[in-house]
Amino acid sequence: MSERPVRVRFAPSPTGPLHIGGVRTALYNYLFAKKHGGTFIIRIEDTDQTRFVPGAQDYIMDALAWCGIMPTEGPGIGGEHGPYVQSERKSMYRAFADQLVESEHAYIAFDSSEDLTTMREQAKQMGMPNWQYNSTTRTSMKNSLTLPSDEVQRRIEAGDPYVIRMKMPRNKHIRFEDAIRSWVVVNTNNLDDKVLFKSDGMPTYHLANIVDDHAMNISHVIRGEEWLPSAPLHVMLYDAFGWEAPTFAHLPLLLKPDGNGKLSKRDGDRLGFPVFPTNWTTAEGELYSGYRENGYFPDAFINMLAFLGWNPGTTQELFSLQELVETFTLPRVSKAGAKFDPDKTKWFQQQYLRSTPNEELAEKLSQILTDKHDLNRLATVCGLMKERATFIGDILTEGSFLLAQPSEYDAKTVRKKWKNNAAELMTEWNAKLSTLSSFDAATVETEFKAFITSKELGIGAVLPLFRLLVTGKGMGPSMFEIAEFLGKEECVERIEKGMEAMTNLVAND
Ligand code: GLU
Repeated sequence: MSERPVRVRFAPSPTGPLHIGGVRTALYNYLFAKKHGGTFIIRIEDTDQTRFVPGAQDYIMDALAWCGIMPTEGPGIGGEHGPYVQSERKSMYRAFADQLVESEHAYIAFDSSEDLTTMREQAKQMGMPNWQYNSTTRTSMKNSLTLPSDEVQRRIEAGDPYVIRMKMPRNKHIRFEDAIRSWVVVNTNNLDDKVLFKSDGMPTYHLANIVDDHAMNISHVIRGEEWLPSAPLHVMLYDAFGWEAPTFAHLPLLLKPDGNGKLSKRDGDRLGFPVFPTNWTTAEGELYSGYRENGYFPDAFINMLAFLGWNPGTTQELFSLQELVETFTLPRVSKAGAKFDPDKTKWFQQQYLRSTPNEELAEKLSQILTDKHDLNRLATVCGLMKERATFIGDILTEGSFLLAQPSEYDAKTVRKKWKNNAAELMTEWNAKLSTLSSFDAATVETEFKAFITSKELGIGAVLPLFRLLVTGKGMGPSMFEIAEFLGKEECVERIEKGMEAMTNLVAND
């Protein structure tokens, strides 16, 4: 492994919103950099202008900020190795392409896209469906290896469009040690002569990526598995320039929940979970939903993502970002694809919600409430409800009775429990409640127990009636704590109203 100071980069192309697979790549880069006291850089790779999507770069930066994994160098942040957007570095690349032509690692090719289509068609008819521009076929194409040099010169001067291609050697083994996959060996006969510089004056991804990783002193390239087939070419480019290659680490794919194929951007809304960190609306007005807007906490989202392709080797599952920094290592990243698990994702959120202090939850809750509420009371609401909630919004939907009188009563509970002497029993219990001079949970509980004992009834026969009248529900947190929270007057009033409602419900039955 490289002994250089750790400098890693996340290099997204602004072709749309950042898929969670991209966020995971950013996260692993971040963790690796922080763990080694290194630098995490973001570089926008926008050399393919045909795929540029306005707003994508801002989306990426905003999503990383929400996740709390901001780079220390990047566009809008600065740093000594800028600019960090490739289109702003455009003028730098040509000289490197020329250098490769001069050193005979690359060559000029004049073939038009029509020429290439014709070649592909002909090859197909001859039973070769996968024609490639490579060390064999290039000998019959229009390039600086086949054309006389004065003709090449003439064409260039006449302004004929051309590209610069990598000159793949024949039958050479390219070897490199991937930090996750160990040794990777590829024969150059399986590689094509990739375009390095395009006729529009822009480098391709391959050239720009290598030139910039070198210029930015990148020590480790941590990226998705889809780039593994490009890595041998990249290794060759470092070699051709005489530069030290970074250490490569290719992360496993993120798979659909059933393990069949890559998790795609369409899967989320199709299968009912977000695949983007934050909401994204396309130019056509189509909305892809995000984790942020679905109520996930960023630290829960990050914890979940960290486990998609990595594990600490222990049974611990809950990790703060700082703990992840301390624990994360590349050799513990798996080679096999990681199946996305929507239930586990919710589980992480649930755990984080439960461990968030009630006061903090109350702050968040107050932001989604339209009416003004006392924060201390909201904190109690959160404390009562958080074991039963996954998202802040659930506290409201599940615990609405804590903030307002019930407007309906759970039909199943009414049917099962409101019978015989229920009305009598509750009238008597309410009379008892109204005499109490203190109304804390313990007192109400003691009184309740004494009441059911005097009636020779069990908890299950009486408590659901009390709950039903006060909360409208068949289940919920401790009824005695609810009573304390609501206070005597409110409780007594709710029981009265509830009994009226029961009379009407039963009459209409
Ligand atoms: N621009 C490439 C992407 O969109 C970066 C690949 C790499 O990290 O080398 O994923």
